[in-house]
Amino acid sequence: MLGIDHVGKRFGDGQITALDDAKFEISDNEFFTLLGPSGCGKTTLLRIIAGFEHPTEGRVLLDGRDIGHEPPFKRPVNTMFQSYALFPHLNVRQNIAYGLEMLRWKPADIRRRVDEVLDLVQMPAFADRRTTQMSGGQQQRIALARALAPRPRVLLLDEPLSALDLKLRKAMQSELKRLQRETSLTFVMVTHDQEEALALSDRIAVMNKGKVLQVGTPEEIYARPKTCFVADFIGEANLIPAGLVGLAGGKTISIRTEQISVRTRPADERRSVEAIVTALTFLGADTLIEARCAGDVPIKARVRGAVSGLSVGDRADFAWDHSSEWLLSE
Ligand code: ADP
Ligand code: MG
Repeated sequence: MLGIDHVGKRFGDGQITALDDAKFEISDNEFFTLLGPSGCGKTTLLRIIAGFEHPTEGRVLLDGRDIGHEPPFKRPVNTMFQSYALFPHLNVRQNIAYGLEMLRWKPADIRRRVDEVLDLVQMPAFADRRTTQMSGGQQQRIALARALAPRPRVLLLDEPLSALDLKLRKAMQSELKRLQRETSLTFVMVTHDQEEALALSDRIAVMNKGKVLQVGTPEEIYARPKTCFVADFIGEANLIPAGLVGLAGGKTISIRTEQISVRTRPADERRSVEAIVTALTFLGADTLIEARCAGDVPIKARVRGAVSGLSVGDRADFAWDHSSEWLLSE
């Protein structure tokens, strides 16, 4: 439905490459996430989809038609901004109605649509409130209602939950997922939070330094990362030189920390490396065991519950099933 076709963006006389040859497709009804560290080009790509920026190279295709140089208001796309950008001098109803008035909707249709979207975000009682009197979570819902009001086909969300505290963020994650399911819209969300991306997305594009490194379902990206960067950025991975366990030299294997067990006696036929424990951190539900193996390669294991009979400085065997290791292709 939405095609990002070799899109590049350079700023400042071409000195800064914010986006380099991005290419992937987003389907109808998909919850799609752009994930990567700060400065990797996520917002730039979102602004190109919205029409606030034009690509230096490539095309933005909607149903096969290039919309890359059309103004924002001509695109069936709406954006919810990180700052919510609600008008402080207007009440909730006026905030939501504003965009529809700009689009010259009839007053009766506007009234009906405002009620509809307030129901959708479960805030019908708030129509006459000032947004300045509302909590962060409530403002967030109103901003969502406003973005959904003109019935866009694609809703763009730039770090929508980053201003909320952890508990509220978790609640709003479920809320976003519910809204996307109920409206059957395409959501394109930007986040630097890998847990959030895994929890919400149908598919994720992992980005770094202006490049799209891998596109796939959360399960694919988690279990079969293509590069060290992806393996390390998503979840908690160990990156071990393949030579250390007798595999092809020069390559790297990744193993998730929760797939490793740690014992002080040599392991069985499973794959294992010997390492010296450097730190034990109790995290409540589990314990993180950090260690160094041959060549000073760090290795981490996340084991259930508390750990007894193991201390910093101990020599231990870190073992995992062959099935949980993944040989990186790059
Ligand atoms: P992200 O959203 O992933 O943090 P951005 O898309 O905001 O990253 O920025 C990507 C890169 O492009 C950064 O190096 C940023 O400084 C640069 N950049 C973004 N917008 C502009 C601009 N208008 N002018 C110059 N450089 C920009
Ligand atoms: Mg950004």
